[in-house]
Amino acid sequence: MIVEVLQPHGFCMGVRAAVEKASRTLSLSSGKTVYCLHELVHNEQVVAELKAQGLRFVESLDEVPDGATVLFSAHGVAPDVRAEAQRRGLAVVDATCPFVARAHRAVRNSAARGVPVVVVGHADHAEVRGVVGEVPECSVVTSADEVAALPFPASSPLGVLFQTTLSFGTVRSVLGALKARYPHLETSSAADICTATRDRQGAVEAFVRGGGDGVLALGSAGSSNTNRLVEVARAAGASFAARAGTLEEVCALDFAGVRRLGVTAGASTPEDFLERVVDALSLKGR
Ligand code: SF4
Repeated sequence: MIVEVLQPHGFCMGVRAAVEKASRTLSLSSGKTVYCLHELVHNEQVVAELKAQGLRFVESLDEVPDGATVLFSAHGVAPDVRAEAQRRGLAVVDATCPFVARAHRAVRNSAARGVPVVVVGHADHAEVRGVVGEVPECSVVTSADEVAALPFPASSPLGVLFQTTLSFGTVRSVLGALKARYPHLETSSAADICTATRDRQGAVEAFVRGGGDGVLALGSAGSSNTNRLVEVARAAGASFAARAGTLEEVCALDFAGVRRLGVTAGASTPEDFLERVVDALSLKGR
């Protein structure tokens, strides 16, 4: 089996900045506990490393004492969370990815013009919860099938915003369904999937269309962009496509029949993990 590492890999810009902010905040904390609302990024190894450095992860501001320091994760938060932090006198370190912050601005701009917005994504994902919190009357859909049930009349102006880590296939199919029903649909590059997602999915598609028959996407089960890489590989025609977040998970996979394996990684997967996996696959292939 030939193993090829697909480009790009390693932390995306948003993840790198969030991890650096967390490390810097911890180093300046003078021993006081620093809290992080939600997983900073959706990668178990990164979270474990930050926990070992003393970062305390919480799912609600209720768990953060008044006056303490709290990090907001790369996925962003809703305005009511920011307001609550301010009211409680918390010292906020905001690690929201710039692409997510851009999506928040896009939704606010549409709302200010009286244009309702359809958010395409997973309603229970932290990023979508934060964006919807900007304008609670947003509608959320996860697939093209749900477009017919939207409450807006066909004559209505309508904005659309995509969760930054969706797959090409979902974007194409939902956009097609929305355009068919809403002739006045407003689209904008500020409402699209992010560059890191686009580039990695593009590399997977190109690899499979160029003759690669297997794709291994490295990242945690909770990583939306990693899971989408598997979907994109399958949609492009790969006969083998799987996700793995640990070396044990990689070793448990059955690569029988795979001739050319492309190894890709989610935007929050540490580079050293990818290197260890490639070493392990090389040994396995001997
Ligand atoms: S995957 Fe995209 S949205 Fe998420 S942190 Fe990276 S650049 Fe930002």
